[in-house]
Formats: sequence, C-alpha cells, structure tokens
Amino acid sequence: MKIAIVNYGDPEAVRVRKMMLNRLAKTSLVCDHKHPDIVISIGGDGTLLTAFNKYQDQLDHVRFVGIHTGHLGFYTDWRNFEVDDLLDSLEHDSGQSVSYPLLSLDVTYSDGQAQHYVALNESALRQKTKTMVSDVYINDRFFESFRGDGLCASTPTGSTAYNKSVGGAVMDPKISGFQLTELASLNNRVYRSLGSPIILGTESQVTLRVHDDSDSLLTCDRQLVQWDVNQHHLSEVTYRVADQPIRFAKYRHTSFWDRVHESFIGGRK
Ligand code: NAP
Ligand code: MN
Repeated sequence: MKIAIVNYGDPEAVRVRKMMLNRLAKTSLVCDHKHPDIVISIGGDGTLLTAFNKYQDQLDHVRFVGIHTGHLGFYTDWRNFEVDDLLDSLEHDSGQSVSYPLLSLDVTYSDGQAQHYVALNESALRQKTKTMVSDVYINDRFFESFRGDGLCASTPTGSTAYNKSVGGAVMDPKISGFQLTELASLNNRVYRSLGSPIILGTESQVTLRVHDDSDSLLTCDRQLVQWDVNQHHLSEVTYRVADQPIRFAKYRHTSFWDRVHESFIGGRK
C-alpha cells in the first residue's frame, strides 16, 4: 500500500505528519507521493481541497483519508491522536470506500478552446464589480436570464460550505446531483430569475453564458480559473456531475447528519 501525505503548514499538522512518517517505517506501508493508493490529508477541509486538487488526475485509483487537527470537518474523520489506529486500519485495508459526486466544469472560450475542471466543493461565476448578466440554459434549453452578483454550482458535500452561506440547501451526499444557487439576484419588474436554489440530477447540465466577461471571475474550489481577457472571452461554462466520483477510504463511519449537527448546531442532548 502506497501512501502520500498532504498537510497544512501549521505546527500541529507538521508534527502529525512527522509522527506519521516515523510510525510508517515500522509498518508494511510505503510513502509514494507520485502514484499513491491512499492520500492522507492533515489539517482541515481546506487541506483536503488542496490534496484533491493535487491528485485529481488519479481519481480512478486513489482514495482519500482526512485527519483533522482542529474541529471535525466534513472531509476529515480522524483526529490527530488516532494516528496509530489509522495506520492499523491502513495495514488491514481491504479496499473499502465511500464515494461522493464531484462537479464537472467545461469552460469554452471565444476562440473555440475548451478546458475541463473538476470541483470537490463548488464553482462560482461572478463579476468583480459590475452586475453579472448571464443566460442560464438547462439541458441546452434557455431557462432564464440572471442578473446579480453571480451563480454558484455546488456538489452535495460542498453544500455545507459556500453554498450554505449563500442560502443553498444542505444536500445529502448520497444523492447524486449538484445545486445551483443565486448570489444576490436582482429581481424586479424588469429582471426576473427563479430566485431559489435548484438541484439537478446526474443526467442534467447547466450552461451559463455571460453577456460581458471582461469583469468575470470563475472559481473552482480554492482556484481561480485563469484566462487572458485580452485574447479570449469566456463564452460559456457547463456544469454537470463528473463521471468520476471522489472515493474516501472507509474504515469507520461518521454520519453526514451528525457532522452537520456537530458543525452548525452542537450541544446535543
Ligand atoms: P478555507 O479557510 O479553506 O475554508 C473556509 C471555511 O470553510 C473553513 O472553515 C473550512 O473548514 C470550511 N469548509 C471547507 N469545505 C467545507 C465543506 N465541504 N463543508 C463545510 N465547511 C467547509 O477557505 P478557502 O481556501 O478560501 O476556500 C475553501 C472553501 O471555503 C471553498 O470551497 C468555499 O466553499 C468555502 N468558502 C466559504 C465562504 C463563505 O461561506 N462565505 C467564503 C469563501 C470560501 P476547515 O476549517 O476545516 O478548513
Ligand atoms: Mn481551513
């Protein structure tokens, strides 16, 4: 079994990484940062997003494990003092995993070039200063003309992140689909968009065509999708559920709704 470790830069995550590497030497597990079977992220959910970004071209064989050094996260099951238990589980691994849907982004530019990205949490399209005007197509049929700050497409596991802050629903990650949420839509007698989040299934896709992209920002998790505004224009972005899900090594189970409770409510009787 080949292991890669991605850690946050704070002293605690660095300490856990060192301890893990020391203990690893006494097991049958080996370190391989190029072609790992398991990617261990040490830090928070943000660190797992970084780990995902680094290994997203190996999703067909890589499984992820998250150790949290702070509070319980949505992608992090293990605590910093459970390293020995985790190594033991890894040594007795029989390939068990749990998969969650990812978001696929197909970006097309005015010169016909296309780029593909995958998000674990979400992708948002917005304008830096001006009001964004974007036509929204669902399954290639015109749906609405959106005016406002922007639109956010989120995965089910990403639904507790930015999506939640902008009024999207928390979505059970056993549902395969994605959610589109409005960012401060401008609704009046002239301009009208649906005004509520929508959840789309595996067979559906949403295409956004901005009217003026000179001021647009497109994100994919922590990354900013870059293009040269002087040379090309962003002509459209299409969101759908990605073909490949993300897999986590499942050695034990923390219920999604327990995490939601722990993270946002707490003090359970
Ligand atoms: P970050 O510091 O890594 O993340 C911001 C906060 O979001 C952290 O507390 C992080 O938890 C938490 N988080 C990340 N993924 C989550 C998930 N799936 N469910 C619940 N909480 C989650 O910041 P960043 O690098 O700028 O962006 C990472 C993510 O943060 C983005 O994908 C976006 O979803 C979210 N974000 C939210 C807002 C907002 O709510 N207004 C604004 C910007 C970004 P940890 O502390 O465990 O890392
Ligand atoms: Mn963080």
